[in-house]
Amino acid sequence: AKKNWNDNFTFFNQNLSDYYTRKANIENHLRKSLMMEQLQVHYQPIIELDSGKIFGLEALVRWEHPKMGIISPEEFIPIAEETGLIIDLGNYVLQKACKQLKIWQESDFDLIHVSVNISTRQLEHNQFVENVIKVLKETKLNPMHLELEVTESIVQNIKHSQKILNELKNIGVNLSIDDFGTGYSSLNILHHLPIDKLKIDKTFINDINTNDYALVKTIIEMGHNLNFSLIAEGIENEQQLNLLKQYKCQYGQGYYFSKPLPANEIEKLLLKKK
Ligand code: C2E
Ligand code: CA
Ligand code: CA
Ligand code: CA
Repeated sequence: AKKNWNDNFTFFNQNLSDYYTRKANIENHLRKSLMMEQLQVHYQPIIELDSGKIFGLEALVRWEHPKMGIISPEEFIPIAEETGLIIDLGNYVLQKACKQLKIWQESDFDLIHVSVNISTRQLEHNQFVENVIKVLKETKLNPMHLELEVTESIVQNIKHSQKILNELKNIGVNLSIDDFGTGYSSLNILHHLPIDKLKIDKTFINDINTNDYALVKTIIEMGHNLNFSLIAEGIENEQQLNLLKQYKCQYGQGYYFSKPLPANEIEKLLLKKK
């Protein structure tokens, strides 16, 4: 049967309304889950490529709703950002990650860094720095063991970002640029910020399989020339690893080493390595 315009319109409308219903659902449930502390934090090892040793762990939030099931951060983080829930969510993850690292350090799994993702929206919140200080104080974590991952979108509000990042740097925390290469920033701008590391976005690492490797090589070389450390994300096979080592990329992370794991499984991994 021939579909007329009206059918299409109804179909389109239905999809749009499903989309808004799900979004509203996610917002409501996320608010409740946050209040009830039902979000989990998983940790993915970051490897020092030369030695193969675990350098640190990236904290990644996880949400399994009793009715809606597992919801990806790719879906709910943007909603949390849009609705402002990211402020509470971000504080929750920061607090949990710092506390967990302190526990591990006290059980003698030392020299570990924890990286926490920070949305630009959080950086723009006027109590952000204060809250980082508060969490470090409460958990008694040495700031040098904490790394905050921000994205290139901070350059859109460069004056403010510069001020906040300098304050964070003065406290002693480490700073990295996440998903590097996908945003609008230039190395020239980032060079003027107190950034320690660039995390090369996984799309570039993925390209190692197919394209030529020139782009990754160039990013690493330019990064090194400007005194950034480099982390490659999304390493999934040995070919990628070998090439990154050859280009002198210091750190890496990806399914090839380990997927993100709950704290108890990270413990098993650390015990095995000990
Ligand atoms: P991201 O910060 O770039 O984190 C890396 C993502 O890549 C994670 O997805 C991780 O599970 C995935 N990944 C790790 N290794 C591999 C690999 O070898 N191959 C592939 N294909 N993927 C890999 P995840 O956990 O689903 O998180 C997605 C995004 O959600 C994160 O991207 C980050 O932007 C955001 N996110 C997660 N947790 C938080 C959080 O606590 N706060 C904020 N603000 N954002 C978060
Ligand atoms: Ca990240
Ligand atoms: Ca990333
Ligand atoms: Ca990402």
